[in-house]
Formats: sequence, structure tokens, C-alpha cells
Amino acid sequence: MSETFEKKALIVGGGVAGIQAALDIADGGYQVILVERTPSIGGHMVQLSEVFPTLDCPQCILTPKMVMCGQHPNIDIKAYCEVESVTGEVGNFTVKIRHKATYVDWDACTGCGQCEQKCPTKAPSEFNRELAFGPRKAIYSPFAQAVPNKRVIDPDHCLKLTKDKCGICAKVCPTQAIRYDQKDWFEEIKVGAIIVATGYELYKKENLTEYATDPDVIDGLEFERILCPSGPTAGVIRRPSDEKEPKEVVFVQCAGSRDPDKHLPYCSRVCCMYCCKMAMLYKHAVPDGQAYIFYIDVRTDGKMYEEFYQRGVEEDRIVYLRGKVSKIFRQGDKIVVFGMDTLTGKRVEVEADLVVLAMAMIPNPAGEKVKKVLNLKTDQFGFITEAHAKLHPVETGIDGIFVAGTAQAPKDIPETVAQAGGAASKVLSLFSGVEKGQEAVLKELTG
Ligand SMILES: Cc1cc2nc3c(=O)[nH]c(=O)nc-3n(C[C@H](O)[C@H](O)[C@H](O)COP(=O)(O)OP(=O)(O)OC[C@H]3O[C@@H](n4cnc5c(N)ncnc54)[C@H](O)[C@@H]3O)c2cc1C
Repeated sequence: MSETFEKKALIVGGGVAGIQAALDIADGGYQVILVERTPSIGGHMVQLSEVFPTLDCPQCILTPKMVMCGQHPNIDIKAYCEVESVTGEVGNFTVKIRHKATYVDWDACTGCGQCEQKCPTKAPSEFNRELAFGPRKAIYSPFAQAVPNKRVIDPDHCLKLTKDKCGICAKVCPTQAIRYDQKDWFEEIKVGAIIVATGYELYKKENLTEYATDPDVIDGLEFERILCPSGPTAGVIRRPSDEKEPKEVVFVQCAGSRDPDKHLPYCSRVCCMYCCKMAMLYKHAVPDGQAYIFYIDVRTDGKMYEEFYQRGVEEDRIVYLRGKVSKIFRQGDKIVVFGMDTLTGKRVEVEADLVVLAMAMIPNPAGEKVKKVLNLKTDQFGFITEAHAKLHPVETGIDGIFVAGTAQAPKDIPETVAQAGGAASKVLSLFSGVEKGQEAVLKELTG
């Protein structure tokens, strides 16, 4: 171990895992740098409509934590940033951070949003999963409760940056914060420990060639945005192709998961629960609609999860069909779903208005570089390997580097938060142990 020990932590990824770990370390009295590659912290949780098993509004429970991160004296959020390189060892890592050009001086930007209101150019919104009815502007903040509440310019769509036209945002900005000539810039920081919380993405539905590439065949996160009361349709259920209210919706579980022959062999662990949740929410919004769920088996392994599923079947009358879907294709106005009901042995055909594929969770491809520069071990799918599956589940095997959340494996929010707390407590023990001169803690703590 080096002579100087920086009792400051770096957390890479500002989803619920990174947010929870940052708050726990900061509340313990140590400084945290929270690096997030998008313009706001929040991750996927803020995109969700309501969350199982309690049907809480995720924005209502996560945004107070996001604001706490933004205001905490021990947390420095570096949004729209990425880790370029890391050298050194536990206690003394040197990290080079890229600040991506936002074309807005964030020290001057007050978040008033006048630029965004007046911007004439629309572009697909990453936050709304690029759904046709939820575009954003070329200067934007990803969502209303973003932290930090600052604007960024999308250089691929801004008329000033692409064609040297427009310039309206600079004209209306009351604090003259627009900087069309801004470039990426770099910063070097020193930290003593690192938590990697780069999260997940969904396996692309285009990988499933047996299922139609159709605007009305969407993935789970797209349907979350449609269900969300603060989403692009204000929670009114519409299908993307013609904005009609769908009267029959089919959910397909294990889309790309548990399919060792063609796709991914593992279980994504949240799809059984979120399909049940989405079918319930759909039925609450469209009481005369029908929801069908195709499943291999239903896994409800968390607290109150089985009761939640029973409620979906008994109270909301969701129709569960046991079997794998073999084909999905458009026929006129309908999306036909072919499957085999393995309980009755009969072929099933549903003429649906909308199909939701519960795509497998995969490690976020945006986390690849950081895993490489940190030299982290991963499994064959890219999830970060823990030092010991049972006794060191948040250690990575590299002293001072820990993992939290879905970067390690698919998991739900309660498990993500618990693991983030676990990783934070390892960092706290490391820092306070070193402070008290008990350097022997290092071996136990880093696995
Ligand atoms: C359709 C769907 C519905 C769901 N519904 C529920 C539910 O109702 N209840 C429940 O408990 N769970 C639910 N989940 C699971 C839940 O979304 C996850 O458990 C949770 O969001 C995981 O949080 P995370 O912080 O690990 O990852 P993420 O939310 O993916 O956050 C990771 C963050 O890291 C950032 N990042 C990535 N790479 C980098 C990098 N190189 N540098 C800096 N930052 C980076 C990302 O931009 C992101 O902000 C659902 C999942 C899906 C797919």
C-alpha cells in the first residue's frame, strides 16, 4: 500500500446503486466523486412507471435521494463525464476523467429551461427510449427532475452546430451560458477506492428475428415510459404505430433469456415481476382491455412477490399462458402471436394490438471501457465477477475496487440498494480502518 492514502471514493455510474453507495459513504464523513455518463443521475429507475411489489412511484422515492446527492457537501457529481484511464492502487488511484462538451457553461446555467422551450429542433429522446411520441429538443435536460438541473446541446441535431444556423438558445439565455465552441476537457483526480455501478441495458429486440420488427412490438422499458404518468403520453396507454388504445396486449417473458441455443442462457430475474406489474398497470388504465403473459415459469422470489403475482391473476385477471412464443408477425391492424400452451398441449394464437418483449438484461455496453481500464474480471456475458460468490460478493478481486448493482448481475431495486450499501460499508471500513492505523483490515476487506 502506498504512503499517502486518499480517503475519497470514486463511484462510476449514477443509477440507484451509485446513488445509494454515494450517500452512504458521504454520510459516513468521506468525500465521494460520482461520475455519470448521461446528463443526469437516476439511471433506469427514474424511467420506470411504478415499481413492484408496492407500486410506488419511482420518481417520488428516488428524486429525493438524487437531490440529496446534489446538495450533499461530501458528494461531487460529475455528470456527462466518463472515466478515461486509471492508474495506481488501493489508497492512491489516479483517475483521468473526460468532461464531454455540453456546449453550455454549467456554472452559468441556472436550469431555467428557456433555451429548451424556444429550441425549434426535435430529436429522439434517449430517456423516452426514442419512442416516436416522446421526442426532446436539441438543447435539453433528459427529464424534469434531472440532477444536476442543467442543459446540454446534442451536437448531432443542433442547427447551429451542424449548419451554422439558428442560435436561438444563445439569444434567449438570460445568463449567456451557451458555448457553441466548447470542447471535451480532461481532469485528473486522486481517490482511494472505486465502486463500479455501471448498470444494465436490454438485449436488443432486433436480435430476436423470429419476432417481428414492428413499431407495435416494444421492449419493457419502452412500455414503462408509456405507462408512466409523467411519461410522453402522460400515462395514457397508446401504441406507437397509430396512437390507438391497445385492447389486447401480449407480454412475452424470457425474450432472449433462458435460451442457451440462440440467445442468453441466464435468467434476467426481474421480468416475471415487471411483466405482472405492467399487465396490472395496463388493466388499471384500460379496464376493458386484456393482458396475456406467455411464460416458461413464474419466478417470484422476493418478499411479497408471490402475493403480488397472485393479485395480478386473481384481482386483475391477467391471463397466464405457459409456453414459448414461436412467432410474432403483423396481419393488417393486428400483431399475431403464435405459441404453444404446454399445459394443454394446444397451439395458441392471440391477435394483439401491442406486444411487449421482456428482453434479457445485459451489462450496460457503456461500462465496457471502465471495466477494461480497471482490469476487472467479468463472466462470459460481461457482468463483473465478484471476488467470491458467497463471502466477498461486492469485492472485485482488485484491492480497493468494488461492484454494486446490475453491473454484477441482473437484480431488482431492493437487492441493488442492499448491495450498494454493502459496497459502501466496505469502503467506509477501509477508510476508517486506515484512519485508525489498522491496515490489516485491507486484506479482509478487499478479498
Ligand atoms: C422494464 C423493467 C422494469 C423494471 N421494474 C422494476 C420494478 O418495478 N421494481 C424493481 O425492484 N426493479 C425493477 N427493474 C429493475 C431495475 O431497473 C434495476 O434493478 C435498477 O435500475 C438497477 O440499478 P443500477 O444502478 O444497478 O443500474 P442502472 O439503473 O442501469 O444505472 C447505471 C448508471 O450507470 C451509468 N453508466 C453506465 N456506464 C457508465 C460509465 N462508463 N461511466 C459513467 N456512468 C455510466 C448509466 O448511465 C446509469 O445511469 C426493472 C427493470 C426493467 C428492465
